[in-house]
Amino acid sequence: MKKRVYIAATGGTIAMGNGPDGYVPRPGFLRAQMQAMPELQTAEMPDYVLEEYDPLLDSANMTPAGWLRIARDIAAHYAGFDGFVVLHGTDTMAYTASALAFLLDGLAKPVIVTGSQIPLGEVRNDARLNLITALQVAVAPIPEVCVCFGSRLLRGCRVVKVSAGGLDAFDSPNFPALGRCGVDIQVDWKFVRASLGSPLVVKDLAAPFVAALRVFPGIRAGVLANILQPPLQGLVLETYGVGNIPDRDPELLTALEQAARRGVVIVNCTQCLTGSVDMHGYATGSALERAGVVGGGDMTAEAALAKLHYLLGLGLAPTAVKAEIGRDLRGELSV
Ligand code: ASP
Repeated sequence: MKKRVYIAATGGTIAMGNGPDGYVPRPGFLRAQMQAMPELQTAEMPDYVLEEYDPLLDSANMTPAGWLRIARDIAAHYAGFDGFVVLHGTDTMAYTASALAFLLDGLAKPVIVTGSQIPLGEVRNDARLNLITALQVAVAPIPEVCVCFGSRLLRGCRVVKVSAGGLDAFDSPNFPALGRCGVDIQVDWKFVRASLGSPLVVKDLAAPFVAALRVFPGIRAGVLANILQPPLQGLVLETYGVGNIPDRDPELLTALEQAARRGVVIVNCTQCLTGSVDMHGYATGSALERAGVVGGGDMTAEAALAKLHYLLGLGLAPTAVKAEIGRDLRGELSV
């Protein structure tokens, strides 16, 4: 019997057409294009059910509520399908893929997130191959949320968008690719996580206040103090190198310290593409640790933001959130 894949089409360039102001999502466009693709009807392809979301989004408009909608949609169709493809814009794909990894607790089937840099309706496009490859990977026994884009299969909670115009738009700088999509699709099974055998659960989440801030030369304490004001509950602080911020302005550290004491969870992630935060390397980093900032290790800022949303959304106390930030929950962190 043919395997079955559920496709959640949330939007993105793959589902767009040309409008007066540039590309915009076009309802019905994707379904019509896919129906006109004979290759999707061949014996080697799984059967699919396409659910086109309303509204289709440019992923710049994706939100944490949107992440939850996708996760609940997958859970609602979980029993009836062998795998899942999420079609999504590339701009915030790294955030959504990270969030789905956390939200889909107990995942034992593949969830393959993809999209394209050129719409499926264009003569020359990357959408066709990304879609076909994602559908084929979605029936392999990979119990993970992955991004399958261009020539690689990557762990979803490790990806970053690294190219605005290239067809290999994503990288997983701190974790090896899970597979290569060349002449053959080759999965590197030693990097694929094992299924824990527990049932899939998408928990009810509150909508916590979370933000991200990239430290920059000349940053003033007032900027930091403002962003840390209530009702903020969590902040991803993107710092220099192994996790440093300027330490010659005591007010910067005071702003962080006061917020941490109020229970704001501040996660230190590096601005570098590769490597890990180590707050003991320099005095500037150690000061952050004393201020109550928690190290994000080699997590991407996207994964850290999604993880904060998940943990704070569960209603955990700040101390518990801090402890979980340092634990590897879905393969997002090297420990
Ligand atoms: N702006 C588009 C989006 O993220 C870009 C893309 O899909 O490549 O929805």
